[in-house]
Amino acid sequence: MVFRSAIPAIAYPAILSGRAAELMALQRQYDHSQFWPPERMRSVQFEQLGRLLDHCAGTVPYYTDRLRRVGITPGKRLTEAAWRRLPILTRADVQALGEQLHARIVPPAFGPTSVVASGGSSGIPVRVRKTALDGVLWESINLREELWHRDRPDGDMVRLRGVPDTLTPEQAAAARSKHGLILPDWGHPANLFWKTGRLGIFSPKLPVAQQLAFLRTMRPAYLHTFPSYLRLLIAHLRDTRGKIDPLRAVFTASEQVSDELREDCLAVFGCPIIDNYTSGETGYIALQCPQSTNLHVQSEVVLVEVLDVDGAPCKPGQIGRVVITPLHNFAMPLLRYEIGDEAEVAEPCACGRGLQALRRVVGRTQDYLVLPDGQRRRADLAHYRLSSIPAIREFRLVQRSLTQLVLQLVVARPLTGDERTRVDAVVRHVSGGLFETAIETVPALDRTKAGKLRMFHSEVSQ
Ligand SMILES: [Zn+2]
Repeated sequence: MVFRSAIPAIAYPAILSGRAAELMALQRQYDHSQFWPPERMRSVQFEQLGRLLDHCAGTVPYYTDRLRRVGITPGKRLTEAAWRRLPILTRADVQALGEQLHARIVPPAFGPTSVVASGGSSGIPVRVRKTALDGVLWESINLREELWHRDRPDGDMVRLRGVPDTLTPEQAAAARSKHGLILPDWGHPANLFWKTGRLGIFSPKLPVAQQLAFLRTMRPAYLHTFPSYLRLLIAHLRDTRGKIDPLRAVFTASEQVSDELREDCLAVFGCPIIDNYTSGETGYIALQCPQSTNLHVQSEVVLVEVLDVDGAPCKPGQIGRVVITPLHNFAMPLLRYEIGDEAEVAEPCACGRGLQALRRVVGRTQDYLVLPDGQRRRADLAHYRLSSIPAIREFRLVQRSLTQLVLQLVVARPLTGDERTRVDAVVRHVSGGLFETAIETVPALDRTKAGKLRMFHSEVSQ
């Protein structure tokens, strides 16, 4: 890909300056580090962690004692054993500790600080303080995502996932109208490197038929949306036998992507889904592999642990809770932060990258049915292919009490006899004979403030 030169008279090689040069310098390092053997990456991560911990010991009130108690001494090489002794930090901890997690001093080279509020996946809002350097590293991984997955920067892009709060009131009003908002380029940081195509922003709250009309008008190369919105587009196209020009890729985030949805996207939009895993608190966590559906941890900026019930690292094929340490947040260090998700560890990826690989993010640590005897069982609806039942638009499993389970459905029309039989079979399987079950049709399912749709809701305390 040819980059945009800062000097118009020079077409090639592109002269990059300022932020573009800074981001490309990081990219050059990532080009190598992505292929390092895992042991080398781990060693570099621990070197960086050591510096972060030295900073914590000296300037973060909450950590000063805590590190000493687990035997972590400033200036000494950090060991795996000492690291594992450090207690897990939960969302509730972060919420309760607040400024005790703030560093009293942040090195000036990290730039000014700001606070990011994140709803997160568990519904407990947290506020995390970051520096300008966190923004640079965020953009560097964003650029890596562009380079891994977007081969046509001159293509148009449509964003169908909520109206960003960075827009002016006039732009936001346009984005919420049936005409949508069309901006001249994709925005920062992509426009530093390429003369990109246009960016269309459209509200997913408008009727699906209008969303599709906008896509047909723009004919984008790329679509950014949430899996649940994509499912509605696919269902509408199938119902109406509608046609749409193929896209190059659909980018998703924030919700689980099932194999079924990947297959449907390929069949209906003629392109793959490219997923990623990010959070407001920690930044980028993982990007989809350029050659498979694995998610590669962005180990240059974040240390990810997937832990079993005993706190030991999960092996490939095992599912565990995700514990994250952003390696460069010196304003509010989060050490071993339990984000509230569970993921399945992948086998080493066939692409040859040494970057840790996750097979998938399975869901939230709260997505468990509590059985009448107090045991917990994962409530995983993603496997049951409910979306392949033509009448079904959206669904959610609700545990009302220790004995009651309800499957809520949003339907395009009443279920046929066959469809009802399939739904009954799913409910029977999920319930395992342990619950009274019911199927409810509802006009709509509520979403989180950020527009995410949850497949499971429990009214039982966990
Ligand atoms: Zn890979």
